[in-house]
Amino acid sequence: MTPVQLAGGPGQVGLDKTTLELSLKSIQEFAKDRLPDQKLIALDARDECPIEIVRGMCGAELGIQLLFIPEAFGGMGGGAFDMYRVCEEMARIDLGIATSVLATFLGSDPINVGATPEQKKHWLTRIADEGLLFAYGATEPAAGSDLAALRTKAERVMEAGREDGRIAGYRISGSKQWISNGGIADAYSILANAPGGPSWFIVEKGAPGFTQGKPEDKHGIRLSNTAALSLDEVYVDADRLIGGEEGLGLNQAQAVFGYTRLTVAAFGLGGGWAALDRAIPYSTDRIQAGSPLSEKQGYTHKLIVPHVARLEAGRAFIEEIAERIDAGEGSLNTEGAIAKYLATEAGNLAADASLQALGGYGYTHEFMIEKIKRDVRITTIYEGTSEIMEMTISRDRWQLHMKTRGQHYHEQARTLEALHARHPGVGANIVALALHALAEVMEKARLGRLTRYQHVLLRLGELIAYAECAASLCRRAARLSEGKAHEKAHRRFDAKALAALSRVFAREAASKVAEEGLRLAVGAGGVSDTDIAAFEASLGLPAVHGAQAGLISDMDYIADVLYGRAAKPASA
Ligand SMILES: Cc1cc2nc3c(=O)[nH]c(=O)nc-3n(C[C@H](O)[C@H](O)[C@H](O)COP(=O)(O)OP(=O)(O)OC[C@H]3O[C@@H](n4cnc5c(N)ncnc54)[C@H](O)[C@@H]3O)c2cc1C
Repeated sequence: MTPVQLAGGPGQVGLDKTTLELSLKSIQEFAKDRLPDQKLIALDARDECPIEIVRGMCGAELGIQLLFIPEAFGGMGGGAFDMYRVCEEMARIDLGIATSVLATFLGSDPINVGATPEQKKHWLTRIADEGLLFAYGATEPAAGSDLAALRTKAERVMEAGREDGRIAGYRISGSKQWISNGGIADAYSILANAPGGPSWFIVEKGAPGFTQGKPEDKHGIRLSNTAALSLDEVYVDADRLIGGEEGLGLNQAQAVFGYTRLTVAAFGLGGGWAALDRAIPYSTDRIQAGSPLSEKQGYTHKLIVPHVARLEAGRAFIEEIAERIDAGEGSLNTEGAIAKYLATEAGNLAADASLQALGGYGYTHEFMIEKIKRDVRITTIYEGTSEIMEMTISRDRWQLHMKTRGQHYHEQARTLEALHARHPGVGANIVALALHALAEVMEKARLGRLTRYQHVLLRLGELIAYAECAASLCRRAARLSEGKAHEKAHRRFDAKALAALSRVFAREAASKVAEEGLRLAVGAGGVSDTDIAAFEASLGLPAVHGAQAGLISDMDYIADVLYGRAAKPASA
């Protein structure tokens, strides 16, 4: 087994392509050798976290932890794009193990973004050199989605005998819930209310008063250790307050949301594809009614093809924002939420359909798909639930709608119309219909004050995610056809196949936005009987319906590509 390689030259954002490919290959080889399917299934059945494997991956054997440590502290200085590719690869192997590895990344995040130079040097170097396992302790029994309800307290301990009131340390008391690596970590980032406000502290295993609960008996990711933590007046020195200043905790957590949501989005992608990549070969071998399942349209066009289109739409969005984060555009929290929402929901649906694709066999523990389906379920819950993502997306884009007097999505639509003029085959004209309809639905919601209904607000989040990801997939298909794809982009599909996928997803997005937008606006009382026809016309419904033409033949083509039946284009 080759450990992952150290990164490329100075000043470079992230790994070079060769280094990334070598790293992905090392992960695949490690998994092939140490984590065959039967072993994963047995560990899942025993509800066991393979600690030595996790330590091997985050230590000398494989060195994945180096990926997210800056070069200055002995790491590889990987960027967002590298993180997405590695997280997808890890998730394809096992989402529980991927979660354990990611927990160290999450746990060290507050250090990465907010620690003092001395703290960074101390902790990040230790993670790089010693393979220290971290855990991220934010959630509490009564503070999940609403972290502001935090109850864990950090009380100042003043230096004895000093008049100037210098803080010697803190005594932390409270409890944390559902903490990944909770029972196995060497060090923990703990969010607690200090007198100056929520703050992150580093607490080491074995500190007096610090105890870990027994592993939770979970639905999925059973190879990942999840445990509650209890802190009873746990003393830490003042230099364990991350950043050396109280009250910065929530900002430090916010600063990396785009990045961390991107990694969970990649988990959704990896889980979904891991399931489909088992269902696809299964259906070529399985004969029913005289022919393989792979030749039955009612099977492929329901259980395989639409899921591939949704996952690839999620991937297009992930790749776009990873590139933007690496280009220094900030943390892109809302975009991270869109990526996480679409890719994890798509991953879940893909795994569920893949289980169905195996019939009774899919329902048994003996086949990995049953485990993958349980595992991928967590991705719509942790790092912010899908509902919280919908709210985040909707609120942010609502602001854009208001700021631009309703023009934001009309303007986006016009960029897609321009793209269509240059690349008529990628479905950009259909996405433009979706975006115009979205702008109309949002305007109707503004006029009728419909977002006072939380249901409308959150459903708008879904429509926005579909429309924006569809736009992204068009751009990705166009870019690939011009030979300008990101050099580290995933390349499973050629330009022709990606264009077909883009058209399929564009039709779904346009239909969803226009039809569900209509239903919501009318359902919330925002459209009177006499206005319905005019509103339908403003949504471009006839054009959206007309754009569905060609759907079946595009799906046929994608199925042919997936099953290796399509003729290879002269130049891919
Ligand atoms: C296996 C696992 C590993 C985890 N690992 C970690 C970890 O390492 N570190 C960590 O800090 N946390 C971790 N978590 C916690 C995870 O992030 C939370 O479970 C998640 O944020 C949801 O919080 P909750 O469970 O309290 O649910 P709640 O917030 O109570 O939500 C329950 C339901 O209500 C919905 N909901 C909540 N608020 C609203 C609202 N305002 N409007 C509408 N609907 C709403 C939610 O979407 C959800 O469907 C983990 C959880 C699990 C299960």
